[in-house]
This record gives sequence, structure tokens and C-alpha cells, in this order.
Amino acid sequence: MSAVHFDTLITGGHVLTMDAGFGEITNGAIAITGERISWIGSAEDARSLTATSVLDAKGCLILPGLINTHCHAAMTMFRGLADDRPLQGFLNTVWAAEADQVTPASVAAAAALGAAEMALGGVTHFVDMYWHPAATIAAARKVGLSLTAGPVFVGFDGVDKTAWEDRLARVPGFIAQFQGQPGLDLRLMPHAAYTLDSDKLRAVAGLAEALGLGIHIHGAEAPWEMQMVAAQNDQQRPIGVFQKAGLLDRPLLIAHGVHLDEGDIDLLARTGAAISHCPLSNAKLASGTAPVAALRARGVTVALGTDGASSGNDLDMWKAMRHAGFMQILATGNPETLPARELVAMATREGAAALGIAAETGTLMAGKRADVIVIDLAAPHLTPSYDPYSTLVYAAGRDDVAHVFAAGRQIVRSKRLCADISDDIARVQYIANTLKTRKDTA
Ligand SMILES: [Zn+2]
Repeated sequence: MSAVHFDTLITGGHVLTMDAGFGEITNGAIAITGERISWIGSAEDARSLTATSVLDAKGCLILPGLINTHCHAAMTMFRGLADDRPLQGFLNTVWAAEADQVTPASVAAAAALGAAEMALGGVTHFVDMYWHPAATIAAARKVGLSLTAGPVFVGFDGVDKTAWEDRLARVPGFIAQFQGQPGLDLRLMPHAAYTLDSDKLRAVAGLAEALGLGIHIHGAEAPWEMQMVAAQNDQQRPIGVFQKAGLLDRPLLIAHGVHLDEGDIDLLARTGAAISHCPLSNAKLASGTAPVAALRARGVTVALGTDGASSGNDLDMWKAMRHAGFMQILATGNPETLPARELVAMATREGAAALGIAAETGTLMAGKRADVIVIDLAAPHLTPSYDPYSTLVYAAGRDDVAHVFAAGRQIVRSKRLCADISDDIARVQYIANTLKTRKDTA
């Protein structure tokens, strides 16, 4: 081993591999070469290794980067614009602001802000559904995050003012342009069954099949959506509509999945569709509590997401973990329903599984992408730590994330973002001032 020289060696921390057996190395070390984890073992064995950069992680937890499986990063520009109202009222306000402000340039700036917020909070991969996805892809690259993104579909012209036929026609070109790029996982992103009729959903499923892509969609989020979808689709439920349109025949990630009956859960279990559970958004918009325990009991992969910063209101996966646990405890009356380590698994390994990228990331293992975060336990609120998972879920927060490596590159160092996004912050401030002035004079 001693002849091998690594790029980075993180040593002396308590490693949580987050593999299926919840493997841990009490005094562990991880070596990184290029964008991969090249070695993992004990700090003792690491003493004979050399690396260009050595990070002393004594007193820290080392775990895989968190995976935010549902967000709209650029919606940071609307953070706090439409609070304290249900989903429908929220959407009306936000959609008006979007029509006014959303351009490739504003998306690039606001998505950079969102990506920075996520990186500082320990996220290394996120799923983004939003207008002008090329701008979000560029923003994620600037910060250093990998992502799942792709063309968005709604049944109307949308804020990018693109007619349906043009929207479909542009997809193959977009995919050809971005396919195979490192750190980018492409999916088609139809918005929901209430913004697309069944013919249009079928067209998107067909396109996904032709291009060999998975799909990400909102589904079964709110009671009014259930009524609306039923009224438009012969009393069917959203999951039934997805099945009929062929969406369940593709790798499918459904955001929310709050209002699911036995038949829905059965369909998800049989087809391998995954759920991105967004507890904070569901609570804030009074959407309901997703049947997470029931889904997991049936073998459905349930990952965690934050949703957009205008319904969230932040992109904080630590809050998502904690609230996901609390909401299940309240819903089932059983504190054993979703133990802390399962919540950490949902934020890491299950996120990768939900996206079909488990071979690439989600656990710490030699050969996988070096998506690694280091949590500093030297804080009063994290002392003592009897169980690392319990500390992470019930006591830690994103401010405790000390270092973040994404695809081998350090993107957060000693709690500071390595990329400079000051221009992006200034642009988002400008947009917010414009919207605020309008709101004040309206
Ligand atoms: Zn959403």
C-alpha cells in the first residue's frame, strides 16, 4: 500500500459506510483518487499511506454525501414569497412570480444559490425539476454538485413559453447535448397528473422509452389534487393514471406520494417505482402525511427530499430527516416506526437506489464516487454521542457539516463554500427587491 499515493486522505474519524449492513469503522480513514474512493480502512492502516492533502477528522463522523431527491433549486428566488397558505394558493402566487421573473439567467443565479445552500448542508447530489434545466446544470457544476435533471413538461405553454409540440421536439436534442456528461443523470420531468392530461403523459412515457430514460413526477401530493385528477380521469387516482399512461413501465421517481391507498402501494411495489418523501413541504402546505412505514414495509424505496425553497422554505436535508421521523411517529403512535439510522439511510443509500445510481454513490465503498461529508461533533449540542445515527438525526443540523467532497473535489472546507457565488447572490437579491416592490405597491 505504501507505494500508492492518493489525492486526499481523510483520517481519524468514525466512518458510517451506510451500506446494507450499516458497517462502521470507529477510527477509520478514506482515501480519494481523482473522483473515486480508492481505499477505505482503519486510521491505523492509513498511517503508512501518503496523500497530497490529508484531513484530520478526529472527533468527526464521516458519511456519504446526502442525496436530495426532490427540489426546485432555482425557487430559492421565491423563498418566503407565498407563506402560510395551502398548496393551491401558494401555486397561484408563485406561478405569477415565475411568469414575471424566470429566465435562463435568473434560474442560473438562483440555482447556484440553492446548490450552495445544499452543498453547505452536506448534499452532494440533488434531483431538480425546473424550467431552463441547462441553467441549473451549469449552476450545479459551478458549486461542484452532481444532479439529476432534464426537460420539464406541463400541458400549457409554461413560463418558458414553449408550445407542446415544440417542447417534445426539443427533447432529443437536449438529451444528445447532455448525455454522458459526468455527474449528470438525465430524466424526463412531467410536472404532475393535474397539469398534464393522460395523452400528454403517455407521450412523455413514450419519449422516455425511446430515449432509454427514467421519469420524475409529482404525484398524490394534496387532497385537492386527488379530486382534480379524479374529475379529469374517470375517477382514477394519480398512480392509476401514471400506470395507464405507461409511466410505471419506466424507472419512476414520484415526489410526495402522500395520498396512497393499498392498491397504489401495491402498484408501486410491483413496478419498482420509488417515492421522494418531502415531509416539510407536506406539513407546511397541509398536504398530509405520507404512509412511509407502509411503503417501506412493502419494499418500496422511499428517499427524502426538501421540495423547493418556496414551499420548504429551505433545502435542508437534516430537517427533512428529523421531520420524516417525527411525522411517522405522530401518524402511527409508535416511536419505533422509523429509527434514526433508517432515516440516515433514506437520505443517502435509499436516495441513490431511488435514482438507480446506487452503483455510483450513496454508500462509502472503494470504487464509488467520492461523495463524502465530515460532521464535526465538537459542539455542545452534539455532546455526548451515544449513537452516531441518533446524533445525526435528532441533534445535528446542517451547520455541523464541516467538510464536503463531491466526486473527489472538496467543495466545502471548514464550513465555507469553495466556489464564489457572490454575483449569483446579488442577482437573486435584485429579483427579490423587484418582487417585493411590486407586492408593496399592489
Ligand atoms: Zn416539488
